[in-house]
Amino acid sequence: MYKNEPALVLFSGGQDSTTCLYWALKHFSSVRTLCFTYGQRHSKEVDVARAIAEEANVPFQLLDASIISQLSVNSLTSDIVMDEEKPEDSYPNTFVPGRNLLFLTFAAVIARSHGIRHIVTGVSEADYSGYPDCRDTFILSANASINLAMDEHFQIHTPLMWRDKTAVWQLADELGVFDIVRNETLTCYNGIIADGCGHCPSCKLRKQGLDNYLKIKG
Ligand code: ZN
Repeated sequence: MYKNEPALVLFSGGQDSTTCLYWALKHFSSVRTLCFTYGQRHSKEVDVARAIAEEANVPFQLLDASIISQLSVNSLTSDIVMDEEKPEDSYPNTFVPGRNLLFLTFAAVIARSHGIRHIVTGVSEADYSGYPDCRDTFILSANASINLAMDEHFQIHTPLMWRDKTAVWQLADELGVFDIVRNETLTCYNGIIADGCGHCPSCKLRKQGLDNYLKIKG
């Protein structure tokens, strides 16, 4: 796609961003990863992310974004219990208001300092959450605003935007990293690597997609 240009991948060591990392390695000349810490319940996430980046032989940068946990209370930045189901009239309490706008802004500043104009993020509109800052319209808007703010020509890539979890597994398989994504990533809210705890919302979603994909694949 942009074989002669480098990219920065927003990277957490989960299924989605790891798939994005390998997607980026295929489409860009070189790749850097950027991982945010912001009061995650499990610092293990950072270790997992660092190990995957090392295996992929790409630079790994950690940015302390813990200011986010000072801004509002939710289940990803504090010890309150997460909702098992999405409340009908609001977002689940795993929603961190403003997170992706802040992350993309931080990422663009860092990308700029490395002479990088391509930014890759694993947000998806196809999944259950419906977080407003995962929608395509938000990404297009943020891309335009960030370009105007810095007088730059960043391009934000969202290879998973229209893929549900089944299709994300399929992409990992097509990229030849199905086993890496299955065995080495951490998506579970309870901090258990690979197939996870099996009962948190994130594990359920991941497993449903995996079961579907394996059925389709036959
Ligand atoms: Zn889990």
